[in-house]
Amino acid sequence: MRSEPATNTNLVVFNREGIRREMPSLIPLYARHGFRHLDLNFCEMLNRESTLNTPEAEKYIDLLEDEKNEYGLEFIQAHAPYPVPGLLDREECLPLVLRSMEFASRLGVPHIVIHPEGKDIKDNIEYFDRILSSSRVDIRIALENMETENEISRSDELLEIQSAFGSRMGICFDIGHAHVLGLDIEEEISAYGSLMIGTHIHDNDGTRDQHLLPFYGNIDWQSAMKAFAASYSGFINYEAMFFSRTRPIAEQDAIIDEAMSLHSRLVALTGQIETAPLLV
Ligand SMILES: [Zn+2]
Repeated sequence: MRSEPATNTNLVVFNREGIRREMPSLIPLYARHGFRHLDLNFCEMLNRESTLNTPEAEKYIDLLEDEKNEYGLEFIQAHAPYPVPGLLDREECLPLVLRSMEFASRLGVPHIVIHPEGKDIKDNIEYFDRILSSSRVDIRIALENMETENEISRSDELLEIQSAFGSRMGICFDIGHAHVLGLDIEEEISAYGSLMIGTHIHDNDGTRDQHLLPFYGNIDWQSAMKAFAASYSGFINYEAMFFSRTRPIAEQDAIIDEAMSLHSRLVALTGQIETAPLLV
């Protein structure tokens, strides 16, 4: 397991005031608080007004590249847009997914997280086959476990899909999703083993997918962190975007600092020695 803190760029994207900001305005903030490893949130493309859906997208990607160089960042993974019932079906989403794969590839991102849809394994294999054969770039897919019984959510299901694609696909384990379903988190982590190439780290109370920072729900972080340390070689990467939703924007610095210190607490649970994050 890598001990450096990592987060999706959506960590403080939501706020009480409802002010919307895109990745290029958030990245310097995370960098100033010591995050050097970021997961790029191309789910921004689900918002019709997103710059990524305009001719300005190329400039936007150049800006991300400039920030990467300026702050010495590593873009460790990215999240592709996903179908949203009533807004965007899978067919409509496919071109956005392909476009996000191109953006991620240009920025040197090693893998991109894509959601499966529904519960049908064969149908999902066909869908991911279409994505990989239509993609003009060579980027690995990280398949994510979903949070309801009506979706692909358990390790046996994800591993069956993954096995159809070999090295072109790995797994992004969403610990909050597994917890909402009451799955045995240690067992899930060890079932994925080295096929787990990314994580979505957040907490909840076991009833809803709350996407909170760790220790604000009731996940057993001690056993989870030991399991990660035993078989996972990637990052502990926050996807805790709803934590800031009810807080004023003025508190965003405090929230990022708290996320940073909670990362140290998580790493301490593994018994591994932590590398202190670099502060500018
Ligand atoms: Zn997730």
